[in-house]
Amino acid sequence: MKEETTESKAVSKNLKFEYDPAPESFPVEIAEKYGHFIGGEFVAPNSGKYLDSINPATGEKLFSLAVGDATDVDKAVTAATNAFENTWGKLTGTERAKYLFRVARIIQERSRELAVLETMDGGKPIKESRDVDLPLVAQHFFYNAGWADKMDYILPGKTLKPLGVCGQIIPWNFPLLMAAWKIAPALAMGNTVVLKPAEQTSLTALRLAEIFQEAELPAGTVNIVTGAGETGAAIVDHPKIKKIAFTGSTDIGKLIAKQAGKTDKKLTMELGGKSAHIVFADAAIDQAVEGAVNGIFFNQGHVCCAGSRLIVEESIKETFIRKLQARMKQIRVGNPLDKNTDLGAINSTEQLEKIKDLVEIGKTEGGKFWQVDIPLPTTGNFFAPCFFTDQSMSSTISRTEVFGPVLTISTFRTPDEAIKKANDTPYGLAAGVWSEKASKIHSVAAGLKAGVIWANTYNKFDAASPFGGYKESGYGREGGRHGLLPYVEVQ
Ligand code: NAP
Ligand code: MG
Repeated sequence: MKEETTESKAVSKNLKFEYDPAPESFPVEIAEKYGHFIGGEFVAPNSGKYLDSINPATGEKLFSLAVGDATDVDKAVTAATNAFENTWGKLTGTERAKYLFRVARIIQERSRELAVLETMDGGKPIKESRDVDLPLVAQHFFYNAGWADKMDYILPGKTLKPLGVCGQIIPWNFPLLMAAWKIAPALAMGNTVVLKPAEQTSLTALRLAEIFQEAELPAGTVNIVTGAGETGAAIVDHPKIKKIAFTGSTDIGKLIAKQAGKTDKKLTMELGGKSAHIVFADAAIDQAVEGAVNGIFFNQGHVCCAGSRLIVEESIKETFIRKLQARMKQIRVGNPLDKNTDLGAINSTEQLEKIKDLVEIGKTEGGKFWQVDIPLPTTGNFFAPCFFTDQSMSSTISRTEVFGPVLTISTFRTPDEAIKKANDTPYGLAAGVWSEKASKIHSVAAGLKAGVIWANTYNKFDAASPFGGYKESGYGREGGRHGLLPYVEVQ
């Protein structure tokens, strides 16, 4: 009788090849509770209140974070004002650069620790926090450090002056990266900062505070006040804050714009999106499938610029969908700390419910629904990637930002139709175009109302490249030389 090999056993049982678990085991320390970081020290909140921060992959409590109120925010603004008037604000650009380079290097040295913390607190796969978030976090400090002593060259012939104390409010999808891309340009231009991370993901911002201590950044240069929406509102309301930089949902953005509009605060808004990913029939189809997967399933679809609306040329629709399904079956959903995991945990139970609700609405809207049939962990917040086809352009699922691993697919016949469909949204954050013809990519890109347009790739970021939206995706740019201008007064 023929001996049964492992391979033949797998074939006979129709088993799929599987990797062994490879959990990231770097030891990290997490305190039971954290206060605010004000004036260079961790301090207890005025209210004495704390909130639980949950690991979304296990449902277990990770630590408690302080709930900030107007008194805490006022203390932070006083510390930031002192630093602006007496220490940080008095430094030359060359001196500021030295601090920022030092911070960037410490981030690199501690990047494994930071990646593990980011994954535990937010649920994103370790390979993303390790290979995408952390290198970019360090890059934003390096890049902006390079501008600190070159303020005279940002707008030649003009004198640029810092604004003073900047209030910065960030969301939960890229916690440390959002903190870095807000704090680094503000400091490079000589401002001081009061930052509020999202209540779901404050851990790495607080670890960044420890890095600021390690780098001996003058006390009060960066202050971090944790808490929920009221804490953010207290920052927006504070009369001594000169500028608000907000990244988050369009609804909260509108609230903040209304509130700040009553004052002379400068404002930048990085808001939601429903970005179009256009694939022409002449594109390299396997790469485009990979791009589509990366565009929407990267970080569980918790990406403001996620390619959540795939628009494929009609002639390749069937082939594209078949290849996409085959690729989606290979996606590993599970323990975010496992190095083989592609899709980690949905950031919170609220977000998971929101995704499920929108998918249920989508199912009633007349299109077809397909979800990959893979086993999900039984505890924690997990959701299998899925897509809708043949739904109407006016359906809720085609128009609403889901912020989860949910794709809608529609078709086009001509480049003009592709542009019209792509622009048929209240948002305008990003877009992707796939074609082997550069001229076609350029002419389509010229018609798209989106702040970032990727050609034959998707979700690529760089500190030197400006990022921001059109329409309800916000205003102002972050990153690059453009990202420095909201942090200065031009004289
Ligand atoms: P969110 O609910 O708008 O919250 C963003 C931040 O604002 C959080 O820190 C939040 O605090 C705070 N906040 C809530 N209410 C506030 C108020 N009345 N005044 C001041 N601050 C307030 O957004 P999210 O759910 O965290 O993040 C997801 C959204 O962010 C998506 O729409 C996504 O598209 C967008 N986003 C955009 C970009 C971009 O660059 N365009 C990048 C990333 C994410 P708490 O959460 O602690 O209550
Ligand atoms: Mg958490």
